[in-house]
Amino acid sequence: MNIIIVGGGASGVLLAVNLLKQAQAATRVTLIEQRRDLGVGFAYSTRDPAHLLNVRAQNMSAFPDDPTHFQK
Ligand SMILES: Cc1cc2nc3c(=O)[nH]c(=O)nc-3n(C[C@H](O)[C@H](O)[C@H](O)COP(=O)(O)OP(=O)(O)OC[C@H]3O[C@@H](n4cnc5c(N)ncnc54)[C@H](O)[C@@H]3O)c2cc1C
Repeated sequence: MNIIIVGGGASGVLLAVNLLKQAQAATRVTLIEQRRDLGVGFAYSTRDPAHLLNVRAQNMSAFPDDPTHFQK
């Protein structure tokens, strides 16, 4: 299966990772992103140390079966 995801911010990257993790057959995922860095998008590309997460780290896991993933 070939899947193309347009937008490589947090949602696009997490979708790609979860699709590949759960794939039952050979799967190819292509991410199309206009920024240099993947996974950061607008919100997480800030370099200002005053910009903090407004969600508890314990609620930021990318994987339902690993709720402490973000904290590791
Ligand atoms: C200032 C700010 C602070 C935030 N803080 C938090 C927080 O603390 N906790 C939290 O959970 N959420 C926070 N958010 C919400 C945050 O934006 C989302 O959680 C998450 O980052 C959204 O990810 P996304 O991938 O859906 O969108 P985006 O991060 O916007 O990613 C979309 C991506 O698509 C790319 N793109 C768009 N159009 C095209 C195109 N035509 N071709 C190629 N690439 C394209 C963009 O370059 C971008 O990288 C914050 C948002 C903002 C604005």
